[in-house]
Amino acid sequence: MKYNVVHRGDEVSFQLMQTFHRLVEPHGLIHDEETPDVVLSIGGDGTMLHAFHQYKDQLETIAFVGIHTGRLGFFADWKPDEVELLADMMIESSRLNDLRVVKYPLVEIQITTAQGIETQLALNEFTLKGVDVTLMAELHINDEPFETFRGDGICISTPPGSTAYNKSLGGAIVHPSLDAIQIAEIASINNRVFRTLGSPILLPKHHHCDIYPRSHQTILLSLDHVIMQRNDIISIRSMVAAGKKVKFARFRPFPFWSRVREAFIGYEPIQERKP
Ligand code: NAP
Ligand code: MN
Repeated sequence: MKYNVVHRGDEVSFQLMQTFHRLVEPHGLIHDEETPDVVLSIGGDGTMLHAFHQYKDQLETIAFVGIHTGRLGFFADWKPDEVELLADMMIESSRLNDLRVVKYPLVEIQITTAQGIETQLALNEFTLKGVDVTLMAELHINDEPFETFRGDGICISTPPGSTAYNKSLGGAIVHPSLDAIQIAEIASINNRVFRTLGSPILLPKHHHCDIYPRSHQTILLSLDHVIMQRNDIISIRSMVAAGKKVKFARFRPFPFWSRVREAFIGYEPIQERKP
């Protein structure tokens, strides 16, 4: 098994990486930055986003796994003191040539400019915002006009990204076994001219949403942690990425809803009141 480690850059994450190398190298795991089978991210969920974008052209062959050196993450769900356990499980999986994975859906966007069409992928979400003024855009679903948006912006998230920005926007948390994308509004203005649905919506696979920003607008476009300012966008199409998923190595079960509970609610059960 070939692996690489992507870390956050802080001392704790760096030391954990060194420990990990020391643990696995005597057992035949090969450190390979170019074409790893497993990419270990050490840091936070943000570190996993970096790892994903670094290897997004090799999603077919790579499985990701994460250790968190801050709070429990969605993508980084191994604790620092479990590094030895994780190393053992990777060694075992390499020896048996048996790597178990879960696959999560992604969002694909196609950006149309006068120059042509660019395709991009996001693990959490893509957002569109205005810069000087609020974003003004027409939103179409499956080639039919749906609404005229004015406000801070629009967030289109994946199921694994539903616990990130989307959650702060009042979007639903979506189990990653559902092939869907969620459209959530960011502070929409509603009046007689601009009228939006107001509720987050889920689009299934094979549906698509086109956003046509009013022309001559400078726009902030984000893909996960990457933010760019653009003034050449004619339209952006979003959909569940067809045939492209991200794989996470599952060396032990840690169900999605358990992660949601532990990350947001904590696991203190309510004490039964004694009579
Ligand atoms: P950041 O500002 O450090 O990230 C914001 C927070 O989102 C961090 O606590 C990060 O966890 C957490 N996070 C990232 N992906 C998550 C996921 N799938 N589920 C639950 N929490 C998640 O910036 P960043 O680390 O580069 O991450 C970029 C992400 O920040 C974007 O993709 C977007 O989802 C999110 N964001 C959120 C808001 C908001 O909620 N108002 C606004 C802008 C961006 P770690 O600390 O473990 O990295
Ligand atoms: Mn972060």
